[in-house]
Amino acid sequence: MNIQELDETYRILIASPEVAPFAKTGGLADVAGSLPKALAVMGNDVRVVMPKYRGITDYKTLGDFPVQVGQRKATAILREGVIRARLNGMERLVPVYFIDNYHYFDRDNMYMYFDEAERFAFFSKAILEMIKRLGWAPHVIHCNDWQTGIVPLLLREKYRHDPLYQGIATLFTIHNLKYQGNYPREVLSLIGLGDEYFTPERIEFYGNVSFMKAGIVYADVINTVSKTYAKEIQTPVYGQLMDGVLRSRAQDIYGIVNGLNYHEFNPETDARIYRNYGIGNLHDKMENKYALQRELDLPPGDVPLMGVVSRLVDQKGLDLIAEIIPDLMREDVQFVLLGTGDPYYEELFRSFHQGYPNKIAVEIGFNVALAQRIYAGCDMFLMPSRFEPCGLGQLISIRYGTIPIVRSTGGLADTVTNYEPERRAGNGFTFAEYSADALKDAVLRAIAVYRDRRIWMSLVENAMRHDFSWNRSAAEYMSVYGVARNKLEALAYPA
Ligand code: ADP
Repeated sequence: MNIQELDETYRILIASPEVAPFAKTGGLADVAGSLPKALAVMGNDVRVVMPKYRGITDYKTLGDFPVQVGQRKATAILREGVIRARLNGMERLVPVYFIDNYHYFDRDNMYMYFDEAERFAFFSKAILEMIKRLGWAPHVIHCNDWQTGIVPLLLREKYRHDPLYQGIATLFTIHNLKYQGNYPREVLSLIGLGDEYFTPERIEFYGNVSFMKAGIVYADVINTVSKTYAKEIQTPVYGQLMDGVLRSRAQDIYGIVNGLNYHEFNPETDARIYRNYGIGNLHDKMENKYALQRELDLPPGDVPLMGVVSRLVDQKGLDLIAEIIPDLMREDVQFVLLGTGDPYYEELFRSFHQGYPNKIAVEIGFNVALAQRIYAGCDMFLMPSRFEPCGLGQLISIRYGTIPIVRSTGGLADTVTNYEPERRAGNGFTFAEYSADALKDAVLRAIAVYRDRRIWMSLVENAMRHDFSWNRSAAEYMSVYGVARNKLEALAYPA
């Protein structure tokens, strides 16, 4: 997508509790840092707003304004930094507004405080007040996760009488359904809402007030980070008790897979890997494999090398991998796992290494450079997740020509297609049932294809041709912003 292809550009405000590179605990920060760049090069007037946490130091100060939080008249200091986006040598600047308040945000960490509801009630209210101060009303406020969930509610219920706010539509994006921001009834008064909001139709949720529910109920449109996950979360199995609320908005829920930062994750330029390569010189990918084998004390050679880079938690399907290890070790294969998390899995995989030191390498820890060498050096990448909202690992491995073997759930189902020998189509190997047998079957299929060098190389090339860059995802966000605007018009607020 380039600028000329857009019929319409928008003023977009992306509101997020974290934005890379300023503050990051998870994938949301990457989305909130990368999406605005792609939107900016498309010609949109896109700006970002986040809290000013302690570590953020590069900004100018624009002014301050009062924000009422319960009985407290807090002061929001408005500061401004920048994200730089480049296109064909041209630079576009994305303003990033930092909402500062010493009491709420000048702390050691970003989250996990006793007054979390109050902190993000303040942040959300400050976002809406900021619009007045800037005299800049976006076409869309793009809210992310529960910390911004009450923005659509406050906009609709408290601000729409003001003409400045009447044309603002909202999109609420769910990155992680598990964190819902559920707090006791008393937080209503912090937000400035009466008891009439404490009903199941509004924001009462199993006896609490739910910030995420506010986003789901009041946003014009909703999305999550893949189409399959968007459907899955409307079922009890994946719904984290929120499935009923989500079903009530089924017509307005979209799925958009996150993009991958194609500059950072580029095997042709990545300084963290042993030897750069691309589709044109795949033999150099082999050099990465041999070097990785040496680094991991595995005998160098042309055996299929399978990798895992993952948080070691139940979500990731590690129990299935553990179950197939004894069978897998009967094959001529090698396996490397890099991860950290649940001590149970750390110990279990360490013991596998001890049992098969010539075939299994295990590194416990968080190591970004080693992760890249694994993505570059392996032949296959395992991700048999129980659930996966979007998933980054499979996108990185595809970009590096390492064939993903995944369970078809969430974003994995949307990005990995099963290899079909007859049609020579597909970019990986998939299985549906959450069982060790199903995983084993997929791994054995991959090993069988690997044995035919020519076919395997064509599969690798096929995978590397897929485009999971932000351009594609940003184009989808543009159309969902358009849907949000149309919905707002259909609601016909008085002009
Ligand atoms: P999740 O966000 O659920 O952990 P994703 O697949 O979306 O899963 O993203 C995980 C990201 O974190 C990937 O980029 C992966 O490479 C990286 N990662 C996970 N564990 C480690 C680790 N131990 N060392 C380095 N990078 C890791």
